[in-house]
Amino acid sequence: MNKQDIISVYGSNPSKMTKALLEAIDIDSLLPNKASSIALKPNLVVASSADGGATTHPEIVIAIIEFLQQRGYYNISIVESAWIGDSTKKGFKVHGYYDISDTYNVALIDVKDDEYSTKTIHNVTMEVSKAILNTDFLINLPVLKGHCQTNMTCALKNMKGCLSDRSKRLFHTLGLHHPIAALNAVRTADLVIVDSLNGDLDFEEGGNPVQTNRMFAARDSVLVDTYAASLIGFELEDIPYITKAREMKVGSTDLSQAHFIQLNEPSDEEVAKPTGAVAYLSKHIEPLSACSACYGNLIHALKRLDEVDRLQDIKRPICIGQGYKGVVDSTKIGVGICTKGLGKSLKGCPPKALDMISFLKEMNG
Ligand code: SF4
Repeated sequence: MNKQDIISVYGSNPSKMTKALLEAIDIDSLLPNKASSIALKPNLVVASSADGGATTHPEIVIAIIEFLQQRGYYNISIVESAWIGDSTKKGFKVHGYYDISDTYNVALIDVKDDEYSTKTIHNVTMEVSKAILNTDFLINLPVLKGHCQTNMTCALKNMKGCLSDRSKRLFHTLGLHHPIAALNAVRTADLVIVDSLNGDLDFEEGGNPVQTNRMFAARDSVLVDTYAASLIGFELEDIPYITKAREMKVGSTDLSQAHFIQLNEPSDEEVAKPTGAVAYLSKHIEPLSACSACYGNLIHALKRLDEVDRLQDIKRPICIGQGYKGVVDSTKIGVGICTKGLGKSLKGCPPKALDMISFLKEMNG
């Protein structure tokens, strides 16, 4: 896998999807040797199940461990800390990590109990987990989701779980963006595998999951966050820590140089009935066998329009889904290649939320 590669897979089986990504990554070519220490860093910010859209699906972690052990890599640990005020151990319990640790004989490290090294970089002094700093190969397993303070959380921000609680507090007083970028300049992941199965619409603690049934992997945390932002409808300036990380030479924001590899096509498996905040956005959609990746991107696009008071401008329902293949109707508008027979249609399979926003703004003046 090259530094510019972004590999995507669609589906509803996290274990199969993870193994397909790992096959494509050719992990042997990235790991120094069979004795290399490998740390897996999921997102267990709160002790709630992955269905809520906040935390990494544990099947992903299991699939990675099985894949690595089958290839002779046994020096594996799982390293994480919950946010301030929540217990990491409760999260380990809720997600079955004690069983995973016993079954596969992998170490479970709660960063809150770990020793820290004090690092100062770009005018930020922080206490970083020694387990993370000492590992040979760090696999970051973020959930792509919204965030009430930074708009989005994915690879770069997930590294915050590698800090002491004292440093997490400091990061908040420093406004998050600059210190998040600086943390990644201290230690960024060697490989990122993003759980974008049903990340939350706007809160890191979950509650409004948006089903997209998608995962993607990359080696460059800045590049993967740049791509992730476009999927959920954000411009780079909406998430300053990404550009700051590029300025600190953590990685690239140039998606024009990225090499996209898509392992399969999205499918029109049933989309879970939208709930809560997602339900009011879905009222603008007229779906017919829509793939969840397409539908989820449209939900994010509508959310971004709502944030700038442009949702009320949408007068016609937006058609989406494979059921529109072959439908010719000049009165309707749609997103995705399946709707190309409609009066106005946005290309892409699936189109990114960022492109949907431009299209919908143009359609509605
Ligand atoms: S364009 Fe059609 S086939 Fe492609 S993701 Fe959207 S609904 Fe699915």
